[in-house]
Amino acid sequence: MTGQTAKTASRCACGSMAVRQVNQFVLNDELWWDSEFSCGACGTYLCGHAGPGPAPDDVREALLTAHGPVRLRLACPVPSLGPVMKVLRESAAISLSQARELAEDLSQEGLAGTLQEMEFLKARLQLRGIHATIGR
Ligand SMILES: [Zn+2]
Repeated sequence: MTGQTAKTASRCACGSMAVRQVNQFVLNDELWWDSEFSCGACGTYLCGHAGPGPAPDDVREALLTAHGPVRLRLACPVPSLGPVMKVLRESAAISLSQARELAEDLSQEGLAGTLQEMEFLKARLQLRGIHATIGR
């Protein structure tokens, strides 16, 4: 299993600075994220979240800050954005107009996101015979 991890400082209830660690990875064909909190001073360990679905903004920001965004682009022009939009809508709860915008980004300058998000999307596109490449 490959994934991305980021650690951010977070204040513990005991008053010390503790570490919040977030992870994003692909598991069983789904995009997952989890978070945990650990304090070296008082020994507190909390499992914040673990489950499939899109990561919330603070988790994405931590990952993007630690690793930088990547861009996913369609490898070849497609005759119609329809199949691309279908994949996008299957992968996230988005509207038709949002899907169109994202599909246009994919076919032009590229869609930016975390590596795991783009790897996940790339695999979903590939299943429908749409080839995409990941770059910076
Ligand atoms: Zn503590």
